Amino acid sequence: MAMDELIDGLSEVSCDVLVIGGGTAGPMAALKAKQKNPKANVVLLEKANVKRSGAISMGMDGLNNAVIPGYATPEQYTKEITIANDGIVDQKAVYKYAQNCYGIIEELDSFGIRFLKNENGDYAVKKVHHIGTYVLPMPNGETVKKALYRQLRRARILISNRYMATRLLISNDGRVAGAISVNTRTAEFLVIKAKAVILCMGAAGRLGLPTSGYMFGTYENAANSGDGYAMAYHAGAALANLECFQINPLIKDYNGPACAYVAGPFGAYTANNEGSRFIECDYWSGQMMLEFYNELLSGKGPVFLQLKHLHDKTIEEIESTLHKVERPTRGLFQKGRGTDYRKESIEMHISEIGFCSGHSASGVFVDEFARTTVPGLYAAGDMASVPHNYMLGAFTNGAVAGADAMEFANHHDFAEFESADVASERERVMAPTRREDGIPPNQIEYKTRRLVNDYLQPPKVTRKFELGQRRLAEVREDMTERMIARNAHELLRALETQSIVDCADMAAHASLYREESRWGLYHLRTDFPEKDNENWFCHTLLSKKDGRMTSEKRDVQPYVVPVADDEKDLYDKQRIRASA
Ligand SMILES: Cc1cc2nc3c(=O)[nH]c(=O)nc-3n(C[C@H](O)[C@H](O)[C@H](O)COP(=O)(O)OP(=O)(O)OC[C@H]3O[C@@H](n4cnc5c(N)ncnc54)[C@H](O)[C@@H]3O)c2cc1C
Repeated sequence: MAMDELIDGLSEVSCDVLVIGGGTAGPMAALKAKQKNPKANVVLLEKANVKRSGAISMGMDGLNNAVIPGYATPEQYTKEITIANDGIVDQKAVYKYAQNCYGIIEELDSFGIRFLKNENGDYAVKKVHHIGTYVLPMPNGETVKKALYRQLRRARILISNRYMATRLLISNDGRVAGAISVNTRTAEFLVIKAKAVILCMGAAGRLGLPTSGYMFGTYENAANSGDGYAMAYHAGAALANLECFQINPLIKDYNGPACAYVAGPFGAYTANNEGSRFIECDYWSGQMMLEFYNELLSGKGPVFLQLKHLHDKTIEEIESTLHKVERPTRGLFQKGRGTDYRKESIEMHISEIGFCSGHSASGVFVDEFARTTVPGLYAAGDMASVPHNYMLGAFTNGAVAGADAMEFANHHDFAEFESADVASERERVMAPTRREDGIPPNQIEYKTRRLVNDYLQPPKVTRKFELGQRRLAEVREDMTERMIARNAHELLRALETQSIVDCADMAAHASLYREESRWGLYHLRTDFPEKDNENWFCHTLLSKKDGRMTSEKRDVQPYVVPVADDEKDLYDKQRIRASA
């Protein structure tokens, strides 16, 4: 058999809880579901291989948002996140995370993932954020995936690698009934019936084109093409605040984090071309990104991560983390360029846009139990709407989702679905393989992402967005009528491209709906340049209704932790004022 030859096949299995995406949140969700009911069947489905998949595939430098007794309180953290998100937060989910995450750190510690400790054996947390102290380095962070995988094997979780989920199955009464997936090496179909399904498919990281010049040289793990967002949408789930784009600071051309969270606690800082600081702290809210953007435009750019003022030994310590743990390619990149941190600052830039709650707030809407608006369907990690939850949020909310989903499965039988739904999904998936000639997926993807950069990258201009929507509709037509896939690998790319086009449409639709500016650069609308709390102090929910994309408002739920009036705009005040 030639590699990736298409094979006609369909099998069906069933399980109690199906977890889709085996990166960070997924493994934890699967573990907790199994712990809740050891007799039940839990399947973990992954497009790549759970051993090395997702944002943490190579490792991670540390926890960005650890709420550890003695350093920060759940109340403080909840307040910080509320302020960073301009108040548009359902605090219950954030507060629950803040209360649970310490237990998860201890559990990860027991898995063999080490966290930085001081002489007394206490966690050595570093200060980066505005109010509390939350950053906990992970000196052996490159072993995260291995440690997780061991736990999955021990708990006898059924792992299906190289299966890409394409659509959810929904019963006539609107409950989740399972998912359809396709093998990425053979194109054989696998239908998985499940009583509850947890989506952990990460960010939509291939939405814009990166400055690296490579389609896969993205900030996010490039396998995260927004399939989760697209699947939730087509299943009728609501998606929250998609206009709150993810935009991150990164090393120019390398497209990875610089990373201020690692280097900051050692005394490094973000500076302009004059060597001056222009922001007070390195907490990357949308407001911070706007300051960064303005600095780049002001003629005072480029912007740099400044560390050449530090002692040689300190730089060595920073390098030993930055170049070995999370992204080992970072060291290779600097070496290739001949950049020595002792002599030269690191040029930084702002990333392409994406959806991600991990760093921002755009995700499938979930409550504090990780429940979406579709009964039996859960979401956790970067694709669920709990804002700024990063890696520890993926673990913690993954755990919440796993336990609650198993509880749901314990009390429900399988929901029925129409076999015609499977047949029509097979037709949709295989359509590009049935054409003799046409446009390969990478060309459709490139064009879509170029349009995203041209029309959707903030500042958001209404006219540009409307033109962007028209151009995207033309691409969609090409994609539906003319895209070809000549082997199973190309079929995977073709499916990813469809998710990317769906996400681009959602990004445009959600942005045009919110008629104000908020979250700094994330949603800066030139036609509505002011924040309008009177009309827009609310979430927006986007969903598919009667086959059409619609948006509506949702009230911000009453706060659990009050925020005083004079604290609300703290992040607006982080720009350093010129003193002369
Ligand atoms: C470069 C970078 C640096 C970061 N640094 C830090 C840090 O220092 N500290 C910190 O706390 N956080 C950090 N983060 C954030 C953190 O890594 C993420 O928030 C977290 O890992 C997200 O977990 P997740 O489970 O949602 O997604 P992921 O871990 O990315 O997992 C998603 C999984 O879903 C799979 N998948 C996608 N589509 C499908 C499909 N259709 N079918 C089946 N499977 C699918 C993917 O292959 C992947 O394995 C960083 C993120 C990045 C990108």
